[in-house]
Amino acid sequence: MSDKFDVIVIGAGPGGYVAAIRAAQLGLKTACVEKWIDEKGGTVLGGTCLNVGCIPSKAMLETTHKLHEAQHGFAAQGIVAENVSIDPKAMVARKNGIVKNLTGGIAGLFKANGVTTLAGTGKLLAGKQVEVTAADGSVSTYQADNVILASGSVPVEIPPAPLTEGLILDNAGALDIDETPEHLGIIGAGVIGLEMGSIWARCGSKVTVLEAMDDFLALADQDLAKEAKKLLTKQGLDIKLGARCTGTEIVDGKAVKVKYTDSEGDKELVVDKLIVAVGRRPQTNGLLAEDSGVSLDERGFIFVDENCRTGAPGVYAIGDSVRGPMLAHKASEEGIMVADIIAGHKAAMNYDCIPNIIYTFPELAWVGKTEQQLKAEGIKYKSGKFPFAASGRAMAANATEGFVKMLADEATDRILGVHIVGGIASELIAQGVIAMEFASSAEDLQLTVFAHPTVSEAIHEAALAVDNHAIHIANRKKR
Ligand code: FAD
Ligand code: AMP
Repeated sequence: MSDKFDVIVIGAGPGGYVAAIRAAQLGLKTACVEKWIDEKGGTVLGGTCLNVGCIPSKAMLETTHKLHEAQHGFAAQGIVAENVSIDPKAMVARKNGIVKNLTGGIAGLFKANGVTTLAGTGKLLAGKQVEVTAADGSVSTYQADNVILASGSVPVEIPPAPLTEGLILDNAGALDIDETPEHLGIIGAGVIGLEMGSIWARCGSKVTVLEAMDDFLALADQDLAKEAKKLLTKQGLDIKLGARCTGTEIVDGKAVKVKYTDSEGDKELVVDKLIVAVGRRPQTNGLLAEDSGVSLDERGFIFVDENCRTGAPGVYAIGDSVRGPMLAHKASEEGIMVADIIAGHKAAMNYDCIPNIIYTFPELAWVGKTEQQLKAEGIKYKSGKFPFAASGRAMAANATEGFVKMLADEATDRILGVHIVGGIASELIAQGVIAMEFASSAEDLQLTVFAHPTVSEAIHEAALAVDNHAIHIANRKKR
């Protein structure tokens, strides 16, 4: 094998593997370095997302949603299903099978596209050289014309709750729990904390979530956050806001005493397992030689411009290790943009149209600005809302919780944000993303024909409601 490549990608998560495939498709000689190995020492592609993130969490959320539906939603539809229960070991085994299938699939795609996998830990040296240290300690050096850094992120650890095998877990450990805990504690009411809490609450665990901030889902539209808090609490998640974890103690080697403070003072609770879900940080330790020419910002993220260029010519960085939301689809689209730029094409990414989703049930999904952001920025807007309770198809599907909310510029009618809490919000939000990407007005969606009966009609109605013209709810005169 020649040691020179047009493109070397470091990291094979959804940022890196997508960038590598695109670069190879564009005729560039491409290699991808990955350090993740399985128990047999084989290289594992797919990164956080496929192995311990998006995919395994969604596999377990889907399974437990079906369980919850069977236990709590079937009777109302006349379906008799008594003694429905979950086998957590079988659920985890199925999840592992899906992960294996998908990560193996990436290896197949690399082969089909002619991407060379370099097994080991990559380090960027000066002059676009990449040093790869294999698991056995052997070191090889490769020359690249272009390097894409896609090293992703790792969970933030907090001193009051150090990870403890089988008891205090990060996301990877949490996705391997295969017995229903009687009482599950979670630190952090962010996306990961709420998704993990939902999985086990549906299996029958008592779930307590400690969140240091006073606001719930502070980054989401607060209408959405309020509805989600109400619905998740109804499902049994005990979400304690303003509750900061200050320490933990292992009790008899089989439980965790969690100490926390809230507005009333010091408190504690004892749980069977504790999941620490307080955010993620960029994985950039040891990635760069001192003279690589690439700099990190104050929080350890690789410093890049809007086209993901670092300070070193020909070196790019994408995904969780650079600024912006830590989302798989953001990482992948950055990968495509960078591969296109390297191949000499014009490419840019619209950071204003990245959808956010939380896969609780109902799901939360949004794109664009929240009402709070518009107010803070002094932008005058119109708002339309349509509840799924008024949708015939949502009634048929037994999923009437939540609503679609649309925000449009008061002067131009351009859609500025779409916020959905509802059964299939994760799928519906794509309509808002496409509308915004094409700079649609609310009127454009008002004039679009939506099939009946569909849950998507709620998007149509929310667009109509922006101008007080919703058909299937009474419009409230606003302003
Ligand atoms: P990663 O996926 O972290 O991949 C980086 C890869 O680089 C890893 O394989 C790592 O081993 C490798 N690597 C790092 N350093 C080196 C090195 N020096 N040499 C060689 N290899 C290296 N996002 C969503 O959009 N939707 C979701 O539903 C979702 N759910 C999530 C659920 C959980 C529990 C978690 C933890 C995350 C979730 N995310 C979700 C976030 C998503 O996983 C990340 O945004 C995404 O994986 C980032 O992709 P990436 O390619 O930047 O990095
Ligand atoms: P996210 O970044 O979306 O994964 O959310 C992580 C959440 O964890 C944030 O809302 C933080 O406020 C919360 N958090 C961080 N540290 C603590 C702590 N010590 N105790 C409770 N919550 C915390």
